[in-house]
Amino acid sequence: MQVTLMHHTPLAVCAHAIRTCWQSFEKSDEGGEQDKALINRVGNKFKHASTLEHLVYTFYIAGVSRALLQELARHRIASPSVKSTRYTLKELKASTPFAEDAYEEASRFIVLTGNHAVDRASIQALNNLQAILQSGVSNDIAKFCLPESYKTELTWTINARSLQNFLTLRSNKAALWEIQALSHALYDAIPTTHQYLFEASITPPKKEIT
Ligand SMILES: Cc1cc2nc3c(=O)[nH]c(=O)nc-3n(C[C@H](O)[C@H](O)[C@H](O)COP(=O)(O)OP(=O)(O)OC[C@H]3O[C@@H](n4cnc5c(N)ncnc54)[C@H](O)[C@@H]3O)c2cc1C
Repeated sequence: MQVTLMHHTPLAVCAHAIRTCWQSFEKSDEGGEQDKALINRVGNKFKHASTLEHLVYTFYIAGVSRALLQELARHRIASPSVKSTRYTLKELKASTPFAEDAYEEASRFIVLTGNHAVDRASIQALNNLQAILQSGVSNDIAKFCLPESYKTELTWTINARSLQNFLTLRSNKAALWEIQALSHALYDAIPTTHQYLFEASITPPKKEIT
């Protein structure tokens, strides 16, 4: 998967929102250490968490499965704009059938799990779908036999309060492996000066045993 941070609100904007409450604008250091401590104190420690909603992040997320997408879409306090399969199945229609173990070529269209039996079944589903498209069935109908592994991409906008909730739920080892990976990629894409707001939300990735 690829995760790109397209836009984010400067910390100074959130600090300004907080300082509005007691008019202490003169104490701002324009998003420096003082403002950062204030945001953490008010937004996290004092649970005046609505102030964190002034910090908004827009990501471009590519190469994730539709299985992940349906879980991502459950997070109501966020805005997704998703690539339409209805319009984009022509890319698959124009390609040629994949050999049953053509993992690398097929990974242009599907997320691989590393389990060969599952990945071969996904490739077979892809070939079935391609044959249906090439027989002249419209995208609107053909999309009903898309495998869950089918890749998609989206622009996703979320505020810091909701992102904390997302990372808490989805970086946890109880979550689907792919959405755990997305959580870490999102955290890594956030500016390092903002990461302190999410450190308590993110479950560290499992250490490789060497
Ligand atoms: C490990 C795991 C397993 C899951 N398994 C399933 C499953 O089997 N089946 C299934 O259907 N879902 C499942 N889910 C999805 C889960 O139930 C939530 O829909 C999803 O995680 C979104 O969480 P959220 O509501 O906190 O987020 P958001 O929708 O972004 O909401 C953010 C917060 O806003 C508040 N909020 C939003 N809407 C309301 C509301 N209507 N009323 C009151 N407060 C609101 C809540 O405080 C909420 O935490 C699973 C999630 C996880 C992490």
